[in-house]
Amino acid sequence: MDGDSDYLLLTPGPLTTTRSVRDAMLRDVSTWDSDYNSVVQDIRGRLTTLVDGQQDCTCVLMQGSGTFGVEATIGSVLPHDGQLLVINNGAYGARMVQIAHRLGIPVIEAAFDEIVPASPQELDRLLHRNPQVTHVAAVHCETTSGMLNPIESLGRVVREHQRSFIVDAMSSFGGMEMTMSSLSADFLISSANKCVQGVPGFSFVIARRTALEASQGLARSLALDLYDQWDVMQRNHGKWRFTSPTHTVLAFARALDELQAEGGVAARQQRYVNNQRQLVEGMATLGFLPLLAREHHSPIITSFRDPVADFDFPTFYDRLKQRGFVIYPGKVTQAATFRIGNIGDVHQDDIDRLLVAISEVAAEMELLTTGPSSSLQGPR
Ligand SMILES: *Cc1c(COP(=O)(O)O)cnc(C)c1O
Repeated sequence: MDGDSDYLLLTPGPLTTTRSVRDAMLRDVSTWDSDYNSVVQDIRGRLTTLVDGQQDCTCVLMQGSGTFGVEATIGSVLPHDGQLLVINNGAYGARMVQIAHRLGIPVIEAAFDEIVPASPQELDRLLHRNPQVTHVAAVHCETTSGMLNPIESLGRVVREHQRSFIVDAMSSFGGMEMTMSSLSADFLISSANKCVQGVPGFSFVIARRTALEASQGLARSLALDLYDQWDVMQRNHGKWRFTSPTHTVLAFARALDELQAEGGVAARQQRYVNNQRQLVEGMATLGFLPLLAREHHSPIITSFRDPVADFDFPTFYDRLKQRGFVIYPGKVTQAATFRIGNIGDVHQDDIDRLLVAISEVAAEMELLTTGPSSSLQGPR
């Protein structure tokens, strides 16, 4: 972190960006200007290249947060007699079910426990039993818990059944290596303010060109019509259909430069993996245990169990914020947890400082005695 922010964001986005990404926004540009439009075209090309999609993929940028991209995709690519199957093991899977309900799209919910990865075998059984399903949607990193779903195996099952695969890679794209082929994806959705480390304002969809072209005229919404958005951007060489978030786009172009300068997605993934390991190991020595088994963990965000039954999260949060760190409340429904993210401009020395701050706050709040002996101490 570079001194002109109040605190380090240890959240899944918006996250702490670099000074240079924020500086890139300090220009007003015209949406009609060819220099600006070429920045847009460059971004679209680079996003497609990041998932090795140059041959047969294309990219659409969509105003709004990540959910706008998810809703645009679901609402635009399912044919009117189509049916969606959503893999749900967290809040973002549940949100896709809700989107389908709201849009009147028939949906089958494949619900899994929040602390276990979605099962490809179960998906295979469900697709055998439900030949009317045309599209399957799944979340790669379920940010609710930090769970990494076995997205390649799920994708393989979808491909074997010849259905279309929609991947919410919101919190993993740019921070974990993946290609359109490794995912067997027709549509991959992410947003500006996650692992590419830009600022909020738009989402993007990388799509197999033939799959996107087949969606012409299917959208249930005007503003979130993915095909029309793409068609206008394509025909006008980077001009957005409606007002584009120009400052956010400039910041994003800079963020892509910095991703490349870091060594690309592989290097960024390694930094996140190191951050996450260092965090979990340091937290364990302080008596904080992760919710998920180690092998199910993404390098993006970690859920920790409340250290004591009557854990006062608001006080814990405030005291960490006073020390310069903002963490995240828990989101799983089945256990009392809080979350710490490690994406963004966050490095080893930041995690070191965070662990010192947490040990101080834990001592102040008398959280440090854990394990079997704590139950013998009675209420504090
Ligand atoms: C962040 C996120 C979203 C989108 O959330 P927004 O608040 O709309 O940006 C969707 N899915 C996952 C897995 C996410 O982490």
